[in-house]
Amino acid sequence: MIGLISATAAGARARERVAAAWPDRTRVYDGPVGDAVRRAFAECEQLVCFLATGAVVRLVAPLLTDKASDPGVVCVDEGGRFAVSLVGGHGGGANELARAVGELLGAEPVVTTATDSVSVPGLDTLGLPVEGDVAAVSRALLDGEPVVLEAEVPWPLPPLPVATSGPYAIRLTDRLAEPAAHEVVLRPPSLVVGVGASRGAPADEVLGLVEGALRDAGLSARSVAELATVDAKAGEPGIVEAAARLGVPLVTYSAEELAAVDVPNPSQAPLAAVGTPSVAEAAALVRGGELLVPKRKSAGQAGQPAMATCAVVRRPCRGRLAVVGLGPGARDLLTPRAKDELRRASVLVGLDQYVDQIRDLIRPGTRVLESGLGAEEERARTAVSEARLGRAVALIGSGDAGVYAMASPALAEASDDIDVVGVPGVTAALAAGAILGAPLGHDHVSISLSDLHTPWEVIERRVRAAAEADIVVTFYNPRSRGRDWQLPKALAILAEHREPTTPVGVVRNASRADESSRLTTLAGLDPATVDMMTVVTVGNTATREIAGRMVTPRGYRWQEEPN
Ligand code: SAH
Repeated sequence: MIGLISATAAGARARERVAAAWPDRTRVYDGPVGDAVRRAFAECEQLVCFLATGAVVRLVAPLLTDKASDPGVVCVDEGGRFAVSLVGGHGGGANELARAVGELLGAEPVVTTATDSVSVPGLDTLGLPVEGDVAAVSRALLDGEPVVLEAEVPWPLPPLPVATSGPYAIRLTDRLAEPAAHEVVLRPPSLVVGVGASRGAPADEVLGLVEGALRDAGLSARSVAELATVDAKAGEPGIVEAAARLGVPLVTYSAEELAAVDVPNPSQAPLAAVGTPSVAEAAALVRGGELLVPKRKSAGQAGQPAMATCAVVRRPCRGRLAVVGLGPGARDLLTPRAKDELRRASVLVGLDQYVDQIRDLIRPGTRVLESGLGAEEERARTAVSEARLGRAVALIGSGDAGVYAMASPALAEASDDIDVVGVPGVTAALAAGAILGAPLGHDHVSISLSDLHTPWEVIERRVRAAAEADIVVTFYNPRSRGRDWQLPKALAILAEHREPTTPVGVVRNASRADESSRLTTLAGLDPATVDMMTVVTVGNTATREIAGRMVTPRGYRWQEEPN
């Protein structure tokens, strides 16, 4: 819950806008301000105070205890110009909240935590448990002092500006290890613990077994990603509670699936009880990985027979491939999600001219693998193989990366051992459509006129089909120096089914500095004015030029001409 506190009439108006926008997430605290702040601080995860920072500093200072648990506090000034992240920038989410409130009120978010302002990811924001001297190592990263990354297991970390030797270290490990001075230990969720239990096995027995197995193998419980068992034990209270106490999800598999897993220590007992010769080892190994602790049994409580088994597996690291569309060119048509993914990736793969488009957004420590036109296959392979090494990779493309672009060749290469995240981008047809008016108001297709990878007969058949079906057509790759007869040919096919006066929109470099566009007709278009930076949108038989704009009617009855 977000507590909202204000003192003045202007503050109350801004407060009401936030409350109206987020009715389920906010609560207004009325009454004397000091009292309201104290109540909200005790009851809410976050506060937005429409008060001077000085006043809020004085009020919250005595309430602060620990940055891990204190609420995040954002102040908005009387003029509504700034949303200041005051306390709890990372842990309390105040930086995020300042940005969200800023967006809502049209205020500038003010974020002063060092890692955010110089574009190094905060070590406590990586989503991994972290131990050790976070403050000292973060400061070293910021100050550009040498920080060494020792990754014992691969993991798709965001870029970190690291050195080969130096006094500071970041260790990525699932092994038990006390962080040394000037060291931070990050815990990747790399371990899966398979568990089996007889009916009624006590939670203490299950948990004691799991913790003992991890300790004896020198493994950290903070790297456990999940407990795994057979479907039949999904509701076994001892297992359910052990997972809850470890703070990890319980995942279950069918007996059939587990029976198919090759394990070192199968046995008869579970086969009779649940239909698979192994529960613990099979459930831990079912998604692959390295068996670190073979099946072991619990001690059994008070002389009773053992009621639980467990096994520990280090699962193969899944790299991350983000396929990111950069939009047509303008920075404000690059989505916030695309920006986040560019910052999230430690390896960036793309055509050099697209890398140039976003070079200022690349974080220090990012490996940039750029190549020239024509190296598509190599780019796709590189992106996938880097992800398969467990890295966080962003493969970029202009417009939408899935439209006549890199997503298809990359995903055709990719196996199911990596995670793939697609970020849609504004494709050229949409960018051009918005400039021209509303040409895509009814059914429309995109057709690429490049016969580099597609035989011309196929392209021609599709143009003809669109012509016959009276569909609005946007031509990508319409014309280049070596390919000049295709566009006139395609237009001639459309002209067999549409009037010479059919509106045609030509947009060059949509949303880029030298953007230009013009509206002409099927008969009037001069193909010589079209090049590879251009898309050409041809209307259907109902498309009209209205007040200088290209409009394809949606077909609403109320717009039919009265007779
Ligand atoms: N993935 C891109 C398309 C790549 S194919 C997208 O989704 O937009 C390359 C063709 O796209 C170019 O030949 C041109 O026809 C078109 N194109 C790309 N960006 C453009 C822009 N900003 N303005 C006009 N056309 C563009």
